[in-house]
Amino acid sequence: MNKYLKHPVFEIISEIIAEKNIQAYVIGGFVRDIILKRPSNDIDIVVVGSGIELANMVADKIEKDVKVSVFKNFGTAMLRYKNYEVEFVGARKESYNRNSRKPIVEDGTLEDDQNRRDFTINALALSLNKETHAQLSDPFNGLDDIKKKIIRTPLDPDITFSDDPLRMIRAIRFAAQLNFNICDEALSAIKSNADRIKIVSRERVNDELNKIVLSPKPSIGFRLLEETGLLEIVFPELYKLKGVEVKKGIKHKDNFYHTLNVLDNISKHTDNLWLRWAAVLHDVGKPASKRFDDVHGWTFHGHEFVGYKMLPDIFRRLKFPMNEKMKYVRKLILLHMRPIVLSKEDITDSAIRRLLFEAGEDIDDLMLLCDADITSKNSNRVKRFLQNFQIVRKKLKEIEEKDKIRNWQPPISGDEIIKIFNIKPSKIVGEIKSAIKEAILDGIIENNYDAAYKFMIRKGEELGLKSVKE
Ligand code: ATP
Ligand code: MG
Repeated sequence: MNKYLKHPVFEIISEIIAEKNIQAYVIGGFVRDIILKRPSNDIDIVVVGSGIELANMVADKIEKDVKVSVFKNFGTAMLRYKNYEVEFVGARKESYNRNSRKPIVEDGTLEDDQNRRDFTINALALSLNKETHAQLSDPFNGLDDIKKKIIRTPLDPDITFSDDPLRMIRAIRFAAQLNFNICDEALSAIKSNADRIKIVSRERVNDELNKIVLSPKPSIGFRLLEETGLLEIVFPELYKLKGVEVKKGIKHKDNFYHTLNVLDNISKHTDNLWLRWAAVLHDVGKPASKRFDDVHGWTFHGHEFVGYKMLPDIFRRLKFPMNEKMKYVRKLILLHMRPIVLSKEDITDSAIRRLLFEAGEDIDDLMLLCDADITSKNSNRVKRFLQNFQIVRKKLKEIEEKDKIRNWQPPISGDEIIKIFNIKPSKIVGEIKSAIKEAILDGIIENNYDAAYKFMIRKGEELGLKSVKE
């Protein structure tokens, strides 16, 4: 392990603690990731003593302008040095009461501190002390669990999860990120404590959900969330996608597992968190738009529109960002059926122009989502759909090169319409503006100023307006 402690920050810490005769260890995720050969820039240092004092001494010794951020309430301090974010914490003993995930904290030993860690794989510590330098302290066989790819709690899982219910989603997040299994005892403890997730703040839950969504095969995490009963509590809209109904011998597909396939598919092609969330949510409108009739069987007509309408409320309630990210996800949901419809009919230029106009810069992301949405088990069908999308893509490219619609704004602004007809800002201005836009997208007039100007004058006259000649 010695070679992993070559970074100057470890050398500085080791010198200081030898001088002051205190003990400190690298602990947690950084040690786990060394063994897993995963790159990691977050270092956690546990000190038997004051984390804040050690952080200040380290900063002084580095000499350069290193700023220490102190979190007094938590008794921790953090500094950044050469690409690393180093957090210092005093070794502590924790005890919990039932209504909060905030523990009562007292000073403790390294062992106490390892006892309070969430998983055996996160309780490994590497010594920075002179006599034991680079020795691994592994009281719960975490090394063995890493080899066996198992997530296990150091103490009774029932107590561990009840004390701090966030650990339940963390277990699932590590299972998804590392492709590990949660041991049986821990899994059943999650099931019986699932309801306690309600005492955890939404922001914490979302941080973990985002890490699940960004993991190499996110379905692992979502399956576990569903299986343990957590999904229903933390994301009811997704839970509602689950299930197959049968009527008159006809069943529809299980939209939850379909969604997971789409998510895994798209995750092979993008690390864009919000594009991945769009995959998670693309069919969220299906339960509300599900119908059965004798002629068509099961249908989900308009589910993309229903999902689009639902999204702001979902984001608000889950405390997801209510900014352009929400608008982006919402747009992709709304448009996700369009390329499919297009590929089924003769593709007209105007339909392509409309799609380009509405998707704008996000057209490539939309096409990735549509590719990922093909989850048929019939490989011939998959091939045919993908080929059809290639035709749509080719058309999109041709029309974009010709008409430059992607970032396009109609050539005549509302202000100009107001001036030309000498009218007040009113509904009619919007009407003329949108008539110009529609005429260009439909290919009735060319996409240039002169054609738009002529069209505008005609349209204005139809509406009883006269242009003011200058
Ligand atoms: P990553 O940085 O990839 O998210 P990590 O294991 O480093 O993984 P952090 O959230 O950075 O996770 O936490 C650092 C360490 O603190 C963990 O390895 C674990 O030992 C401990 N820890 C974090 N959260 C908890 C918790 N809720 N309960 C107990 N121990 C925790
Ligand atoms: Mg970390």
